[in-house]
Amino acid sequence: MSRPIQAHIDLSALQNNLRVARRHASSRIMAVVKANAYGHGLLRVAEALGEAEGFAMLDVRDAIALREAGFRQTILLLEGFFSADELPLIAEYELSTVIHSMHQLDMLDAYPRRSSLQVWLKINTGMNRLGFVPEQVPAAMEKLKSHPAVREITLMTHFSHADEAEGVADQLERFRSLTATYRAPRSLANSAALLRYPSSHSEWVRPGIMLYGASPFADTSAQQLGLRPVMTLSSGVISVRDVKAGDRIGYAGLFRAGTTMRIGTVACGYADGYPRHAPTGTPVLVNGQRTRTLGRVSMDMLGVDLSGIADADVGSRVTLWGAGLPVEDVASSAGTVSYELMCALTARVPIVAD
Ligand SMILES: *Cc1c(COP(=O)(O)O)cnc(C)c1O
Repeated sequence: MSRPIQAHIDLSALQNNLRVARRHASSRIMAVVKANAYGHGLLRVAEALGEAEGFAMLDVRDAIALREAGFRQTILLLEGFFSADELPLIAEYELSTVIHSMHQLDMLDAYPRRSSLQVWLKINTGMNRLGFVPEQVPAAMEKLKSHPAVREITLMTHFSHADEAEGVADQLERFRSLTATYRAPRSLANSAALLRYPSSHSEWVRPGIMLYGASPFADTSAQQLGLRPVMTLSSGVISVRDVKAGDRIGYAGLFRAGTTMRIGTVACGYADGYPRHAPTGTPVLVNGQRTRTLGRVSMDMLGVDLSGIADADVGSRVTLWGAGLPVEDVASSAGTVSYELMCALTARVPIVAD
């Protein structure tokens, strides 16, 4: 027997979630698979989502790996190229690249070869992270249109508030007025905008988190959206003990028992990707029953409350998040978002996909 931790990747849930995206938007779907497909594994996710029209990621080597695995779809580099020497690879493998800065436009000038680059011009409509500011857009557009190496231009922006009450209206309006005179495909929507703002859909939508079965919204659950969790992180109880009132648990003795109680130690810690800052009370399932973590998360283990859990013993199954326990609930208890928990899964956790 090996250490009982594993992450299960439910491929049919991925396909279900892609169908949910299709029900909301008739646009082409650019499945966002950055960060090793949000921790789920780039190639296995791309295979399960093979019907998506495109894949978006950061690293040119990952993009090439997808091409070499036989994917013919659009493959978009979300931050574009970082140095001019990536351009020949982008051309050779027919990748699409974001261009978000004058700096990148200058690098493109150093690459005058006749080519057929597919460029996504990124416009900053309020996120203030990447993208040309409105005043730069006409010049950037002119430059790209007349550049011999550029074959097609797609216009894109990214929303900062699509998951919040404020919504996308301001950014959408800014994008529309800036791009009104250009004939080019457009792409704006992340998962939240895809689900809530049809007016933002345009030619391409770019869902990420929803494909992995988590809700982008605080006020609507994944289940309410028809999404199914893809990653289930599970492990087992490896030690059980009874403690009495006043006994303390784990490093720094952060949890102190108020009464006699049965506790368990689970083979999962921050070196597996479980958040160390998850406080006592973070939800966890033992034998399918909801209970709570106790004390500080260690590198390889964490404590759980076994009070009232039927038949809890060494070997009991534990769900840290996923099927039966939304990752959003664990994230919110730990003061973070589902995205971070999924991406944080570490390489030592065995993955089982089916
Ligand atoms: C990560 C990302 C997305 C996907 O966002 P979700 O909230 O996961 O749907 C879309 N577009 C860009 C530019 C991104 O960086």
